[in-house]
Amino acid sequence: MSEKIYTIPINLSFEQKCGCPLCRLYEQARNNALEYVTGAAMMEPDVRIETNALGFCREHFGDMLGMKNRLSVALMLESHMDEVEKKVFSHDGKHAAKEAGRVAESCFVCSRIEEHMSHYISNTVHMFRSDPEFRKLYAAQEIFCLPHLAALLKCAEDRLGKKEYPEFLRISVAIAEKGHAALREDLAGFTRSFDYRFQNEPKTERVKASVDNTVAYLASVKK
Ligand SMILES: [Zn+2]
Ligand SMILES: [Zn+2]
Repeated sequence: MSEKIYTIPINLSFEQKCGCPLCRLYEQARNNALEYVTGAAMMEPDVRIETNALGFCREHFGDMLGMKNRLSVALMLESHMDEVEKKVFSHDGKHAAKEAGRVAESCFVCSRIEEHMSHYISNTVHMFRSDPEFRKLYAAQEIFCLPHLAALLKCAEDRLGKKEYPEFLRISVAIAEKGHAALREDLAGFTRSFDYRFQNEPKTERVKASVDNTVAYLASVKK
């Protein structure tokens, strides 16, 4: 089941032992998906069929407009708009209501990211089970953000046996709890720095980044 195209980036990300390793993989998956869709693939007929059907979410439309000239996005929008017209407006009102919701919810980039992330998560669980070196690396992580902790535990519960799951659960929760405590302390340092009694105390980089890091920990990814 282990697939090299996923195990190599997983190992590289976990080796950094800094921040949530799955957030790093998410960033890579996101950048790859955006580069893919704004690159040569944008004009490929079978990719166009998919982008016409799925469209994009607001966030990824924004990313694409930031990366690519407006004409190529406009060309893609033209055929997507024609597809939406066919799907949403060619039947009765009830059909339009249902299809409008579907188009609004789907995104080509989100679906590619989700596909990659599900492989990253399942391969991480698989490597924990089958590779003792990776298990050590897993246990040495600084933090897991809450969305990725939840995703890891859900996958592990489905895939690990009664003997292996409790250990995976214990190690994963301990990592997140330790990371949580460190963030909480950094955050206290940040708010304390606004107190005139402490305003001359130097702020560490971690304290300066604590608000962004805490938000990323609580709400790193949508799903
Ligand atoms: Zn994460
Ligand atoms: Zn999206």
